Amino acid sequence: MSHAIEIEGLRKTYAAQGNAPAKEALKGIDLAIPAGSIFGLLGPNGAGKSTMINILAGLVNKTSGRVSIWGFDQDRNPRQSRAAIGVMPQELNMDPFFSPRASLEVQAGLYGVPKAERWTDELLALVGLTDQANAYARNLSGGMKRRLLLAKALVHRPQILVLDEPTAGVDITLREMLWQNVRRLNEAGMTIILTTHYLQEAEQMCDEIAIINHGELVIRQPTQQLLARTDRKTLVLDTGGTAALPPLPEGAKAERRADGRFAISYPPSRLRADQLIDALRGASVPILDVATEEADLEDVFVELTRN
Ligand code: ADP
Ligand code: MG
Repeated sequence: MSHAIEIEGLRKTYAAQGNAPAKEALKGIDLAIPAGSIFGLLGPNGAGKSTMINILAGLVNKTSGRVSIWGFDQDRNPRQSRAAIGVMPQELNMDPFFSPRASLEVQAGLYGVPKAERWTDELLALVGLTDQANAYARNLSGGMKRRLLLAKALVHRPQILVLDEPTAGVDITLREMLWQNVRRLNEAGMTIILTTHYLQEAEQMCDEIAIINHGELVIRQPTQQLLARTDRKTLVLDTGGTAALPPLPEGAKAERRADGRFAISYPPSRLRADQLIDALRGASVPILDVATEEADLEDVFVELTRN
């Protein structure tokens, strides 16, 4: 299997409701997601990320287009395509009276996993809920509920795991635990697709990234290539408290940071650092210390989703 997911010409229009007009949430997306990767789906609020994920999960019906999951066409082989994917939704939807163990057993039943093939205890251990296995779900903390949702997505041992904003609003310990789990599952061969608001997290976790905006695919590239595409670098200078800088070469922009240092951003394709430093030294600006900063995913994201 080379592609875990193949999406062609995917469109979704939500019908008009009451005063709300019809909404074209996906406007013809083509996307192939390689098997074995950790793939990031990014985009501003309302871009269409959840719509796409919910279509993959079989929770939202597409308007048109083709979706193939692990080689199974979603319309022609709904059962097989559903069996290949597990989704951890963003909302905490669970039955308050089921214990984690019961929730996992019920979920396994829904997916038709025979008793002998269930791995409930291993899953509880994987997400650190062994001690709470028989507690009421309503007595679990928010973080524990999220971990249970992850376990639920895994009951049928899917080849593909989809996480919609898995770390939105969770504390740092849980975030680290989630990412550790995700890395381990990926190392064991699982394809991971995730959306996240934390661009730094996407930068660290994802092999490849697709950015969507207003229902359209803006770009899709390996993370390293995406980071290399901005023509921006930043030179950070300690000038010992100098109040202002002289005029800089065309293309360079200076701003004063809270710590008193000047950050000069410039396009490395057109300007070299020594040209900037020459301009400063020509005006007798002292340079006590210099650091450089590369563009990060945040810069790329802002550049690509600016309207
Ligand atoms: P994202 O997850 O990227 O924030 P969504 O897929 O949730 O974006 O939403 C994309 C667009 O579709 C938004 O404009 C949103 O308001 C609209 N939308 C989402 N779900 C529905 C729905 N059930 N009915 C009508 N419009 C919806
Ligand atoms: Mg969303």
